Parts: sequence; C-alpha cells; structure tokens
Amino acid sequence: MTPKVTAAQVKRFREIIGEIKELMDEAKGIIRDGPRITYERAKAYPLGHIYSSLDGDSEYLGENCTLDAIADELEDAVTPCKKCGSPLDEDQFCTDETCPFHEISQDDEPDTEPKLS
Ligand SMILES: [Zn+2]
Repeated sequence: MTPKVTAAQVKRFREIIGEIKELMDEAKGIIRDGPRITYERAKAYPLGHIYSSLDGDSEYLGENCTLDAIADELEDAVTPCKKCGSPLDEDQFCTDETCPFHEISQDDEPDTEPKLS
C-alpha cells in the first residue's frame, strides 16, 4: 500500500514529540520534589525509558527506535507532488504555489495523473 502520510502530518508529529518532552520535563520536576529514592528510581526506569524513546538523547537505550527516528521514517515516506516533487499538504495539494498542480488534490489513485482543468 502506498503511504499517504503528508508533510503536514509529519510536522504535527514532530510538534507532538516536543509537547510530550515539555510534559515530561514538568512531570520530572514534580517527582524531583518527592523523596530522593523515588526520583532516582523514576530516572532509572520510567523517565529514562520515555526520554530515550523520544529522541535517544538519554544514555539508557540505543537510539534505533525513537519517536524522532519514526518521524524521520515518516518524512521519507511523504508522497511528493507528481508534477514538481514538492511536499503535499494535508489535503494532498501541492505546497508550491507556482506548481500547476497547486490547486488540484492528488489523493486519487496513486498512478492516476491529476487532471488540469
Ligand atoms: Zn507541485
């Protein structure tokens, strides 16, 4: 099946990763105000796992399957405009305003050329 992920979706996905990081930093701050042993345990296990799953900055795990890596894979799968190769927006319109297909949705069959009206 042809991937139908769009550049706009990948952008939103990266924003979500950023929002998760912000929430995790807040959560970490709350845990830090608790007992030291609780904080140490949280850093070693749940916090460490979540941070390393996000971007691999953490020393806990490898960075082979982080959400950042997933975002990179999604970006590689974004279907480009059939005419000019520019990214498509969430409605499958070419994002290049000078492209003849800028006003034509490309969400038809993968092998069908969009029709110019
Ligand atoms: Zn185009």
